[in-house]
Amino acid sequence: MGRVGLGVAVGCAAVTCAIAAALVARRASARARWRRAVALLREFEEGCATPPARLRQVVDAMVVEMHAGLASDGGSKLKMLLTFVDALPNGNEEGIYYSIDLGGTNFRVLRVEVGAGSVIINQKVEHQPIPEELTKGTTEDLFNFVALALKSFLEREDDQDLKRALGFTFSFPVRQNSVSSGSLIRWTKGFSIEDTVGKDVAQCLNDALARCGLNVRVTALVNDTVGTLALGHYYDEDTVAAVIIGSGTNACYIERTDAIIKCQGLLTNSGGMVINMEWGNFWSSHLPRTLYDISLDEETQNRNDQGFEKMISGMYLGEIARLVLHRMAQESDVFGDAADSLSSPFILSTPFLAAIREDDSPDLSEVRRILQEHLKIPDAPLKTRRLVVKVCDIVTRRAARLAAAGIVGILKKLGRDGSGGVASSSSSSGGRARGQLRRTVVAIEGGLYQGYSVFREYLDEALVEILGEEVARSVTLRVTEDGSGIGAALLAAVHSSNSQQQVPI
Ligand code: ADP
Ligand code: MG
Repeated sequence: MGRVGLGVAVGCAAVTCAIAAALVARRASARARWRRAVALLREFEEGCATPPARLRQVVDAMVVEMHAGLASDGGSKLKMLLTFVDALPNGNEEGIYYSIDLGGTNFRVLRVEVGAGSVIINQKVEHQPIPEELTKGTTEDLFNFVALALKSFLEREDDQDLKRALGFTFSFPVRQNSVSSGSLIRWTKGFSIEDTVGKDVAQCLNDALARCGLNVRVTALVNDTVGTLALGHYYDEDTVAAVIIGSGTNACYIERTDAIIKCQGLLTNSGGMVINMEWGNFWSSHLPRTLYDISLDEETQNRNDQGFEKMISGMYLGEIARLVLHRMAQESDVFGDAADSLSSPFILSTPFLAAIREDDSPDLSEVRRILQEHLKIPDAPLKTRRLVVKVCDIVTRRAARLAAAGIVGILKKLGRDGSGGVASSSSSSGGRARGQLRRTVVAIEGGLYQGYSVFREYLDEALVEILGEEVARSVTLRVTEDGSGIGAALLAAVHSSNSQQQVPI
């Protein structure tokens, strides 16, 4: 070989070595970046851990806060609001009633026709999304929109000249003065209309109804949880509490008036009253809070509020996952160069998070589609898609398990969690031997709970872990489809002047 030939050979070898070294270095750095993504995943998983012992601490904290909220206004982050609902529908209501359900993502108008014997003869529900601009506009615009929707609904009915009782489900914290009036304490779930705070929201709706010439007035102003409890109780008198897990989350339950210390001398015919807990604002140092929860809180308009809700409900779960994936994209290149969309807040909605978690195809083709079409991340390899599924799973599992702890908190406050020895048979549904567990029904509704089966499975699993199998068997979670609206119509029936249909609670 001549000198030239030797030079070329040496040159080629050097280039080959350099390429090989570059490839090795690239692979090593890719491996390091993948390890970083996995480390972030592990760290997130640990931060979200909810072993049974921790869930029990959350249960106990919930009970302590319930007592504190009942003792004094401002005594707890749990507001434990009086609802003035001391009678629930008993199944004997008859007639046609209307309701409006305003509370989050969707707005509903309902017409409910009921007959004696807990029979819903007919029901009509119309849904429509609330235009985003109305959630941040003026009181008048929002309530005009609601009133006009009712007007258009009523114009399509042929029962025009009936005397109408209207239930108004308004799912934000309200300080009630009576069953048909109450002032807004503050907005939640992304609504922010400054001038509504402090106003009587039933009056706001009545004014709007009058402005559009409707001769209808609010008969019952209820929280969505209270509507749900009313429908649950209408069907099953063992229903003692209701939980919503939709855009937001909240719960209510039936409390004895003598336990409502902050309202001494409160008298009701029944000796009980439904309490709207506003549990979305529950907080405890036992809640597993991560850096992502703090970032989420900073993005919201109600910072430092609704901490429990921000870990559990549909408005936020997708966003928590998005924050985790965004950090992974920044600190590793698992999503390649095309991960810009992950920097847009709220781009991953909770129904997509659910679809990702529920994709059981071997190649995660639905995950691939969602990443491609909604997050503009093409060609994520299978192992990256698995990572995304895992993030969505962690977010879901923590949410469902915390919701379960909240439910057990209510059961414990009511002495129905089996912890004080099993409750004896003093219930109206009687007939059980002493020492037997009392059957307890919790009415439940909300788009997240109803639409996401993995969430329901995790919640059920946690109930068994906290309560034990035997006690958990005595607790039934019953979905009440459109319960918040139908229940409000039933409460309008109970409280309308032409009705004496009441059953003490
Ligand atoms: P609201 O009464 O507050 O408008 P809904 O009870 O209708 O709320 O629930 C809507 C919320 O439920 C949405 O914000 C969404 O996050 C969540 N959701 C709806 N469908 C699903 C689903 N299939 N999987 C997971 N979450 C869902
Ligand atoms: Mg709702």
